[in-house]
Amino acid sequence: MTDICILGAGIVGLSLAHQLLEADPSVTITIIDKEPEAGLHGSGRNSGVLHAGLYYEPTSIKAKVCVAGAKRLKSWCEQEKLPVLKCGKVITPQKVGLDGQLDVLLQRGKANGAIVELIDEQQFLELVPDGRTASGRAIWSPGTCVVKPLMIVQRLLQRLQEKGVKFLFLNAQWTSNYKLNQINFADGTSLSYGHLFNCAGLQADRVAHQFDTGKQYTILPFRGNYWELRDPKHFQFNTNLYPVPDLDIPFLGVHVTPSIDGTIYLGPTATPALGRENYKGLTNVEPLGTLAFSRHMLNQLFLNKKMRRYVQEQAFQWLPNNFLSAAQAIVPKLKMTDIQRSNKVGIRPQLYNKKTHGLVQDFIMLDGPCSTHVINAISPAFTSSFELADLIVEKSKVFNT
Ligand SMILES: Cc1cc2nc3c(=O)[nH]c(=O)nc-3n(C[C@H](O)[C@H](O)[C@H](O)COP(=O)(O)OP(=O)(O)OC[C@H]3O[C@@H](n4cnc5c(N)ncnc54)[C@H](O)[C@@H]3O)c2cc1C
Repeated sequence: MTDICILGAGIVGLSLAHQLLEADPSVTITIIDKEPEAGLHGSGRNSGVLHAGLYYEPTSIKAKVCVAGAKRLKSWCEQEKLPVLKCGKVITPQKVGLDGQLDVLLQRGKANGAIVELIDEQQFLELVPDGRTASGRAIWSPGTCVVKPLMIVQRLLQRLQEKGVKFLFLNAQWTSNYKLNQINFADGTSLSYGHLFNCAGLQADRVAHQFDTGKQYTILPFRGNYWELRDPKHFQFNTNLYPVPDLDIPFLGVHVTPSIDGTIYLGPTATPALGRENYKGLTNVEPLGTLAFSRHMLNQLFLNKKMRRYVQEQAFQWLPNNFLSAAQAIVPKLKMTDIQRSNKVGIRPQLYNKKTHGLVQDFIMLDGPCSTHVINAISPAFTSSFELADLIVEKSKVFNT
């Protein structure tokens, strides 16, 4: 028997355990992951940017948790002596027509409590000598940082083990008997729990369905491929450089991210994946899932002009020339010979609402039987993890029942 069972040892599940123990050190927690180790999915495969909180509508949960979450994760890393690259971020319009969006981002950033300022071309070029602003203006976010996500996951896991959290890395599946508050394992044993948190990332909708919860939702996997500079010495990137995003679509566009080990990454793309864990070639292809994905995308294309823009601008960025064009829009001197494909690949668990036929932009937490289901933990869930965890604990009322 465990008081709390958490499904998923990604950043959301681990931060949740951390915050539950902060609230009550005597609570017993078991974390179950279907993989043999932690960090094999989103939390170990992202850009590692601690976002400042500029993009999100001020009324959204993302806005509520991102700014404070970034500060908390940064100071936790400092306390743990984990590396933090305090490099800031510049957002630049890749087309003149996108200049007005800078004002929207500035307003959102200020409303959300982020430190953010408009800069002119001269200030821009001082920060990003190899970059381009189409309109002569850009946004500077000095507080944005870059971290090493996998290192954070591993350290958090270690700290939780030290506090007595039990981890079950199954390398196998389990089944739910939610009417009895039980998880059954393949070897015939089972685990009873008081409350269960579903933090299963790319599989979180399927897990929720096993608890008869969130049947109107399905996750559509969008693959993020990265490229990297062959020779960073030929460029000057001491800060993140992002394009102005299409705020109606949950992807930020191809950007440049410096890293702690000196690699300069470009990407990620946001192209439909052939399976939720289809990180490479034809491995883990899910034919039925891909058919359903195509059907939902076609629906979207008919119903939704924003998605037509997405298909036009981003869906085909897996093609090298399309990728290069997107990157050249913010770094004009970049040539194909300057970049190479990176091993880094991540897949976003983007939630789709089958009833409203739309992609869900905000985080979603659903109540199930003695359970809470976090089913859209897309970016900036890594950045926000500690603050998001507090919100999940508060919403689940696990300590009041
Ligand atoms: C390409 C890319 C770039 C990104 N860049 C950023 C960024 O710069 N900044 C930022 O803040 N965010 C970023 N994100 C988002 C961020 O990575 C995620 O929001 C975050 O990692 C989600 O964490 P998670 O714990 O929900 O999911 P995961 O890390 O995917 O963890 C879920 C865990 O659940 C386990 N699991 C799955 N199914 C089951 C099951 N049935 N039973 C038990 N366990 C199960 C998995 O094995 C996994 O370990 C990016 C994401 C991608 C894909």
